[in-house]
Amino acid sequence: MNTRSINGIIIHCAATPNGRWHNVQEIDQWHQARGFKRSEEFRRRFNSDMLAIGYHFVIYPNGAIATGRHLDEVGAHAQGFNSKSVGICMLGTDKFTQQQWESLRDNVRILTGQKYYPSACIVGHRDLPYVKKACPGFSVSDWLEGEMKPLPGHILELES
Ligand SMILES: [Zn+2]
Repeated sequence: MNTRSINGIIIHCAATPNGRWHNVQEIDQWHQARGFKRSEEFRRRFNSDMLAIGYHFVIYPNGAIATGRHLDEVGAHAQGFNSKSVGICMLGTDKFTQQQWESLRDNVRILTGQKYYPSACIVGHRDLPYVKKACPGFSVSDWLEGEMKPLPGHILELES
């Protein structure tokens, strides 16, 4: 049922202030400004209002998961690795809400389940070769070792 062979789930952060909300349409505009472009074909099939967004998923501070590109669509989020990967972006930089951590775990579990890509590796953008920036602002391998629980030191407590 899936038309792409996927070997990686790549986790990113948006490098925005921790806890701040940005709509996926806004991220689409940032990616338009960077020259990213979705194909007409996929725009007709999925999220036709978005012209550019490079990620497949964006996770908001309240834990809601927005979609960007279709899973069958090659993303624009990790140079050299886009064709066989799925990109997930956490809004924020290095501290994320409990709900964001839970949604990341749920999303990764679904994507690596039998229905999708059970053999895919889960990595951070910064774990790829030649990536110089700290994206995301936490260690994905530490998070995996911690059984995908919210990573100590990277949990955003929202002030009430
Ligand atoms: Zn990244």
